[in-house]
Amino acid sequence: MQFYSSDDEIDFSVKPEFYDSDIDEKDTLWVEKTRKGRVSDAVLSCPACFTTLCLDCQRHERYLTQYRAMFVRNCTIKTNQILHSPSVSKRKQAKAKEKIKDGKNSGEPSENDEEDEIFRPVCCSICKTEVAVMDKDEVYHFFNILASNP
Ligand SMILES: [Zn+2]
Repeated sequence: MQFYSSDDEIDFSVKPEFYDSDIDEKDTLWVEKTRKGRVSDAVLSCPACFTTLCLDCQRHERYLTQYRAMFVRNCTIKTNQILHSPSVSKRKQAKAKEKIKDGKNSGEPSENDEEDEIFRPVCCSICKTEVAVMDKDEVYHFFNILASNP
């Protein structure tokens, strides 16, 4: 767990040409408020074209090559596609089996179960490489990225 200190800000010296300082300042304030001063674990870049995709993310506790974030840049969400998480699906199958065992299987999937599984693919908006998925809470889960220390 890292905590924010005023001397330990994200290094914006690698900012792209179209960098908008106003937008970023707003984002930064929001992030600080929302995340209670946690500092980003890494800067994430597209593995194909090296475009910066995220300056504020949290590393996954167990899957160290995965990061989650709420504020991203140069990312396109494929709204016409829905992915289903395999791990969640498995859990759901197990749950369904339990229901059958308990004689409670109505044959109708619960709406909550469906909602939990929905992820949308997120691509680099420059080269269209798929880099992340977005969950129903609009949290981005990056898995195909280059990570460097902020
Ligand atoms: Zn790219």
